[in-house]
Amino acid sequence: MIYFAGKIVDELYQCEDEQTRKHIDDKLGFFTPILKGFLTEVGFESANNGLQVFGGHGYIKEWGLEQIVRDARIATLYEGTTGIQALDLLGRKVLLQRGKALKSFTKEILGFCKKYSLISKNEHKHRMKKFIFPLTKAVFNWRRYSLMIALKARKNRDVIGSASVDYLMYSGLRHHGLFLGNDGTKSQRTNRQKARKYRVLSSQSQNCRILL
Ligand SMILES: Cc1cc2nc3c(=O)[nH]c(=O)nc-3n(C[C@H](O)[C@H](O)[C@H](O)COP(=O)(O)OP(=O)(O)OC[C@H]3O[C@@H](n4cnc5c(N)ncnc54)[C@H](O)[C@@H]3O)c2cc1C
Repeated sequence: MIYFAGKIVDELYQCEDEQTRKHIDDKLGFFTPILKGFLTEVGFESANNGLQVFGGHGYIKEWGLEQIVRDARIATLYEGTTGIQALDLLGRKVLLQRGKALKSFTKEILGFCKKYSLISKNEHKHRMKKFIFPLTKAVFNWRRYSLMIALKARKNRDVIGSASVDYLMYSGLRHHGLFLGNDGTKSQRTNRQKARKYRVLSSQSQNCRILL
């Protein structure tokens, strides 16, 4: 995900057309809170799970894992806490821009899904179908939930604050789904694929929280 954003930064530097630059800049602005907020939260979760694998021993200083957990924790705070990144994403980058960057990025993901859909001529389409269907559904839900939040926020602005962190994590999982799907085009390791698919699908539980 970060390399993908890095590539967009390169495109921004190379681009000379003002309108295209604006489009790339908006895209980067949309990705920034997702990358910062989602990846640092998942990084901390991973470090915490690493400690859990060791059980009580993981908590003991000598293993070094407790230090990794502590170090990973700050990443969710400095350079903008997850709460602030989430408000930036939902308030400024999605609602204020009327979902422009969201629509453009989800269109890109749907383009990827179309490329591997069962009606395509792609040679990997049968292997990819277990990714493509959940990803397509997830992307439509991403758009739908964004619209629902926008409608609710018209009546009650507090909805933005209360939905924002879940929305950010949800967006991160959708964003991640594209790269897992992309990886699925190359990987033959079935168990890993299954685990990743589960991760993409398990994010469905976050839908309910966003809508509360
Ligand atoms: C070790 C360390 C190194 C640092 N280095 C630097 C540095 O080099 N340069 C620099 O500029 N800064 C640095 N900082 C500051 C860091 O960027 C801030 O700590 C960080 O942005 C969070 O701000 P804060 O601590 O004031 O928390 P606050 O803004 O007080 O936030 C406290 C909590 O309230 C939540 N919150 C705040 N506002 C809202 C809101 N409107 N709605 C909902 N929730 C909200 C936050 O998400 C957070 O959970 C450093 C901090 C630390 C701990």
